[in-house]
Amino acid sequence: MTAPLLIPCPHCNGLNRIPAGRLGDAPRCGRCKTEILPAAPVELTQSCFSSQLRGDLPLLVDVWADWCAPCRAFAPVFAQAAGQLRGRCRLGKLDSEANPSLAGQLGIRSIPSLILFKGGVEVARQSGALPLPQLLAWLRQQGI
Ligand SMILES: [Zn+2]
Repeated sequence: MTAPLLIPCPHCNGLNRIPAGRLGDAPRCGRCKTEILPAAPVELTQSCFSSQLRGDLPLLVDVWADWCAPCRAFAPVFAQAAGQLRGRCRLGKLDSEANPSLAGQLGIRSIPSLILFKGGVEVARQSGALPLPQLLAWLRQQGI
């Protein structure tokens, strides 16, 4: 038996313990009953970011803005990736216009930017959008 995984709830930020074998069973938050691993990207903000960095699943962040055409074009790809990576990697979107100081802390120079965090630490970064196969290949190189 492996130890349960700690995963933050995307709604209330509460840390849940989920047995590895239950990741595919649409687990719900013990506190607020929200689905913990939705098939779509979750929205990240300055206030929840540090909470969402916690836990045992990697977090892939898409830093974007509404005025950015390449960001909007990439959104469906990122959403598709969220469905395919469900239970292996969490995907979140960070609106750089709504969260400028966090985008500054992250050193965002261009958007879209993709940042992969493991254990709360940045392990890889990609500037610019990728087609889905290349995105999945890039993540495979990072062990996802
Ligand atoms: Zn919750």
